[in-house]
Amino acid sequence: MKPPPFDYHAPRSVGEALETLAGAGEHGKVLAGGQSLIPMLNMRLAAPGHLVDINRLAELDTLDVEPGGVRVGALARHARVERSEEVAAAQPLLRQALRLVAHPVIRNRGTVVGSLVHADPAAELPAVLALLGGSVRLARPGAVRDVPAAGFFTGLLESAAEPGELAVSAFFPLLPPRSGTAFREVARRHGDYALAGVAALVGLDDDLRITAARVACVSVGPAPVLVDVTEACGHRPPASADWASAARAVQERTAPEADIHATADYRRHLTGVLAQQALRDAAREALDA
Ligand SMILES: Cc1cc2nc3c(=O)[nH]c(=O)nc-3n(C[C@H](O)[C@H](O)[C@H](O)COP(=O)(O)OP(=O)(O)OC[C@H]3O[C@@H](n4cnc5c(N)ncnc54)[C@H](O)[C@@H]3O)c2cc1C
Repeated sequence: MKPPPFDYHAPRSVGEALETLAGAGEHGKVLAGGQSLIPMLNMRLAAPGHLVDINRLAELDTLDVEPGGVRVGALARHARVERSEEVAAAQPLLRQALRLVAHPVIRNRGTVVGSLVHADPAAELPAVLALLGGSVRLARPGAVRDVPAAGFFTGLLESAAEPGELAVSAFFPLLPPRSGTAFREVARRHGDYALAGVAALVGLDDDLRITAARVACVSVGPAPVLVDVTEACGHRPPASADWASAARAVQERTAPEADIHATADYRRHLTGVLAQQALRDAAREALDA
């Protein structure tokens, strides 16, 4: 199928993009990597009257390790973020997650910020932003706002980005000392969207006892499901932590739905297994940190 007709705009500056988006209002859509939007247009699941292509805006093609975290500009592709050694050293969860996103050709075009705005509950990056407590910077002419992850994912394929707004960057905070992260998922084929997935973060104190443990789950609700399991793990060294009880606490918080790929029970079961694995991996990383 072919997309419905639309007016194509190729602004030469962020300012021009913001004015064009503001003028288009609810009839406008940003075109970034196009890896989700173009299939949606071709399947006629979206029919915007105006497409605002941001691919010429070099101002948005940025990737910076700042004192408190990693700031990813709206045109930074998955592959660039995944391959950056500086980013991997500062915030390892980004690379851990990006390796699981689709296939290399899709990662060469798709953008991290586009994935966040698209807000697919099966996508890895919304879970990363939620787990780390990051934020997304949204702009319209004369106004910029930072929306924390906790308020950004508002529903199935719904984010806080309003019509006329451009997401200019996303911020992923650094980990505290003695922390580790991990991402585990199960997909039917490598590169497919996950049937279930879990991002985990574990923090230790100076005596190497667990002081923080939380997970963000994908594909088990309309948005990333964030669960704090610090209590369930117990204030113990990782070797004697109650990972099974933590996994049960995670399962209780999920509300998966059945579809053609998996039953709800199977998704809940997978989430428990993956939560245990990811928490153990994250704890191992924290011990090495
Ligand atoms: C076969 C296939 C498999 C895939 N598998 C996975 C997977 O396993 N995991 C995963 O996470 N993703 C997967 N994806 C999606 C991929 O990661 C996309 O790149 C990503 O979801 C969207 O990024 P994009 O830059 O391509 O955005 P686009 O497709 O250009 O846009 C997506 C949506 O976000 C909006 N948008 C994009 N950027 C901005 C912005 N800066 N400001 C405001 N709105 C914006 C667009 O208007 C549109 O509504 C897959 C895609 C394909 C085709």
